Amino acid sequence: MLTKQLLELNSNENSLGMADSAKQAILDSLRIGFRYPDDQRAALISRIAKINGVTESEVSLGNGSSENIRTVVQMLLNFAFKTGKRFQVIVPDPTFAYAELYASSLDVPVIKVPLKPESYDFDFQGLQKAADDFDGISLFYLCNPNNPTATITSTAPFKHWVANAPANHYFLLDEAYSEYVNDQSFESGVEWVKQQLTANLIVVRTFSKLCALAGMRVGYAIANPSMIAAIEAFTSIDNTNLSGAVAVLATLDDEGFLARSLHNTNQSRQMVEATLDELGLSYLPSQANFIFHEVNGEVKIYMDRMREYGIVVGREFPPIEGFSRLTLGTPDEMAVFIKVLKSFRQKGWV
Ligand code: PLP
Repeated sequence: MLTKQLLELNSNENSLGMADSAKQAILDSLRIGFRYPDDQRAALISRIAKINGVTESEVSLGNGSSENIRTVVQMLLNFAFKTGKRFQVIVPDPTFAYAELYASSLDVPVIKVPLKPESYDFDFQGLQKAADDFDGISLFYLCNPNNPTATITSTAPFKHWVANAPANHYFLLDEAYSEYVNDQSFESGVEWVKQQLTANLIVVRTFSKLCALAGMRVGYAIANPSMIAAIEAFTSIDNTNLSGAVAVLATLDDEGFLARSLHNTNQSRQMVEATLDELGLSYLPSQANFIFHEVNGEVKIYMDRMREYGIVVGREFPPIEGFSRLTLGTPDEMAVFIKVLKSFRQKGWV
C-alpha cells in the first residue's frame, strides 16, 4: 500500500534541503571515512571562530547545539556540586524544551516563568526573582528568537540585565534562529561575549536551520576561554562526525546557497503573513523560520484536521492557547499549506 507523503511543517527544519556543495563534500570525504575527523574539526573550529570574530579557544563544537545545551547544564551542576551549592535552571514558558529535559534527567529543579501574557515577551523581573529567591547557582536558558513565538527580545533591557547579574547567575543564550533575524535592533550574545559583558555567558548556535544540515548534527557554543574549557570537559570527544564537518564547511563557503536559503524563508513568511492578514488570524512578528499564529479554535483539533489533509503543523504550547507554530517551508510548500488553510476558512474551521 502506498503511504501518502506528509508535508512536514512542524520541526523548524529547512526543507530547501542541503546545499549541493555540502552533498558533494560529503561524497568526497567518504574515501577518508575510516579516519578520525581531527583535521576537519580543527578547520571547522577555525572557521567558526573567524565568522564570529572570536578566538578558537572561545568555541566548543556540539553534536548539534543540543549537545552544547546539555554540557552547559552538566558543567554547572558539577560546579555546584564541587562548591557545595544548590543548582537550578530557570526557563521562560513556553520555550524550547531541551534545557528543561536535560536538567530534569539530572534531577535539577526547573523553574518555569510564564511569558508576559500581553506581549509574549520574557518576564525579566519574574525570571530574576526566581534566581534572587534561590540560595545557589541559577542558569537562565533564554532562546532569542524564542521558540515557539519566533519573536526577539528587546536588546537594551536584556543586555542591562545580563551585564548586571550577580556572580551566581549564569546565562545560556540559544541563538538557533539568529541568522533569520531582520530586526536591526537585535544584538547577538556573541557580541556580549566579545565585549566581556559578563563571564557567565554562553551562546549556542546551530547549522541545522539556515544551513539546512539538521541531520548532520553540528552546533557550537561561544563563551570565554575558561568557560569553554569547563564545557569541553563534558563534551563527547570527537563529537563532530566527518560528514557534518565537511558539509558545514562547504555550506559556509556557498554564499549563493545561504542567500537562497534566507530568501526562501523570507518569501515563505511573506506569503503566510499575507494569508493570515487576509483571514484575520493574528500572529506574532516572526524573526525565524517559523511563525506562531492564531487558529481561531483548539490547536489540537486544527492539527488533526491539517494532518488529514497531509500537513503536519503545530503543536500545542501551553500555557498559550489557540496558537499554532508553523514551520516556514519552501514557497511551494507554503502554497499548499495556504490552499488548505483557506479551504478550512470556507468550512468555518479557522
Ligand atoms: N535550539 C532551538 C531553539 C531549537 O529550536 C532547536 C531545534 O529545533 C535546537 C536548539 C536544536 O538544534 P540542533 O539541531 O543544533 O541540536
